[in-house]
Amino acid sequence: MTVTTHSEQQTADVGRTLATTLVPGSVVLLVGDLGAGKTALVRGLAEGLGVAPEEVSSPTFTLMQEYRGGRVPLIHVDLYRLNDAREIDDLGLEELGLDTVMAIEWAEKLPRPIADAVEVRIDHGDGDERRITVSSSP
Ligand code: ADP
Ligand code: MG
Repeated sequence: MTVTTHSEQQTADVGRTLATTLVPGSVVLLVGDLGAGKTALVRGLAEGLGVAPEEVSSPTFTLMQEYRGGRVPLIHVDLYRLNDAREIDDLGLEELGLDTVMAIEWAEKLPRPIADAVEVRIDHGDGDERRITVSSSP
């Protein structure tokens, strides 16, 4: 499924809609350049899960954050700063996400694929246009 959005809010709305399909153990892989709107989409996921969306900031400097208070806890991971496959492996993401929804920015850095994940690819268009493709990860 591909949708085109024209604002940060519209991209968050895609996340909010996607959240309705997520259950404990669901993994959302976010792929797209800096400024594509990955964090904006996670803000929508949080809102859709019932977490206060203002809690969602870019975890670029914290690597991982967990938000509670929704129908399922949300773990938000940002692999931007990590370039070593070993370091990423050591996070043990696969064991962490069993009872939560996990959203992973820069998921293309994962050394091994995560089974049964949803992949969200965000491509820049002109200006505020973004093309968002949601698929089950290969
Ligand atoms: P990322 O996490 O991919 O680096 P962010 O979500 O942090 O990106 O930032 C996206 C930036 O792009 C924000 O400043 C946002 O306002 C802007 N923006 C403009 N148009 C859009 C859009 N259609 N969808 C998402 N963000 C948009
Ligand atoms: Mg981000």
